[in-house]
This record gives sequence, C-alpha cells and structure tokens, in this order.
Amino acid sequence: MIKYNLICKCGKSFESWFLNSAGFDSLKRKSLVKCIYCGSSSVKKSVMAPNLSSKSNKVSKKTKIEKNIKEQLVNFRKYIEKNYKNVGDNFTQEARSIHYDKKTSKGIYGKATPEETSELLEEGIEVATIPWDDNKEN
Ligand SMILES: [Zn+2]
Repeated sequence: MIKYNLICKCGKSFESWFLNSAGFDSLKRKSLVKCIYCGSSSVKKSVMAPNLSSKSNKVSKKTKIEKNIKEQLVNFRKYIEKNYKNVGDNFTQEARSIHYDKKTSKGIYGKATPEETSELLEEGIEVATIPWDDNKEN
C-alpha cells in the first residue's frame, strides 16, 4: 500500500491509499480517483509534500529500528545477567567443562575471542555471540 497526498483543482488536498503507484495510475486513467470534497476527478498527486515526508519518515523509522534493537539487546543482557552465570575470561574453559563433563549447569556467559568461539563451535559446543557493550548505559 502506498499513501499519496492528492491535490484537487478545487484547491483542497487530501490523502488516499493505493495498492501501488501503478494502481494509482490505472484508477486515475479511469477517472476513479476523486476529490473527497467536490467529487471532481481532476486530482493529481501533490509531489512536493510526500517526497519530503517520505524522506523524513524513512530517517525516523531507521532511528526507531536502531533504538528497538538497542532496547532488545539491553533486555537480553539483563536476562542473561539474571539467569546465567558470569564466568568472565574463563568462558572457553567453563563452556568446555560443561560440554565434556555433561554437567547440568546453569547457563554461562563470559568473554571469548572470535578464535576461541570458533574453536568451541568446531568442537560442537553451542555458543552464541551477541553484541555486548561493556559500558554501562544511562
Ligand atoms: Zn475538489
């Protein structure tokens, strides 16, 4: 769906939804795009406004998504800190001992280098890497 700002020859402008831009064109050809104020089919897309607004929408949408991701990471981190044991730099060692000793253990988290992580993965040990910002936020 696409929203257009339409402007009528009567001077009124209004917004309307169309399937896509081709949908608008085909309705327009059949004179089915009508002014909601006077019923005239002499309406056209108002070019300036939607261009400007779609641009700014895009920007704010992106910021919003980034913010959401950040919030999810913060929540994820809180969850991990609450439910998992922090083994810090011993992560690789602890992960191995859990895997090989079949210890039923609380999940762990900690630091590992990318090399250590790929070694663990090669050994069939399930690890996940998540972006972690060590600076406390807020
Ligand atoms: Zn009109």
